Amino acid sequence: MKELKDYVRTIPNFPEEGIMFRDITTVMQDPDGLKLAIDTMQDLVKDLDFDVVVGAESRGFIFGTPIAYNLHKPFVLIRKKGKLPAETVSIDYDLEYGKATLEMHKDSIKPGQKVLIVDDLIATGGTTEAMIKLVESLGGEVAGVLVMMELAGLNGRAKIAGYRLDSAVTYE
Ligand code: AMP
Repeated sequence: MKELKDYVRTIPNFPEEGIMFRDITTVMQDPDGLKLAIDTMQDLVKDLDFDVVVGAESRGFIFGTPIAYNLHKPFVLIRKKGKLPAETVSIDYDLEYGKATLEMHKDSIKPGQKVLIVDDLIATGGTTEAMIKLVESLGGEVAGVLVMMELAGLNGRAKIAGYRLDSAVTYE
């Protein structure tokens, strides 16, 4: 029986020297990998009470949408700068390699709604922290963060200390 890690491909030095890139395309390309990833992630949050799933472009969409669909919850999109057509809130943040801006529609979360943030991977935690701030700026309550992979060595977990974090696979 293959484990989730067996479906992840590691590419050294992409997109920059020194980065061990954890490639999820090989998980998605295999129907057993895809099913195992979604089922494992969903199982990790089966005890969690939340109203809305939020995911960021683009790999957050891949994991967040099927989980929202399966649990019959709304899925809210966080997108890169300039993509969302209605009124937005935005946040600038630092990446493991570079900088970025994320945006969310102002009316996408109602104050007091409990939010599950879903992403492919937490590295430094910069992206996750930015997503948490966006959700909270709209009055949402972050019930938890769910990722397929955690790069433990980059200490993203510490950056979002105080928030529940579930990960299906951990790399050092
Ligand atoms: P971070 O903000 O540092 O936690 O990085 C989070 C995002 O960057 C993830 O959603 C990934 O899409 C991407 N990322 C960062 N480091 C890696 C890596 N080593 N392998 C694959 N994706 C990565």
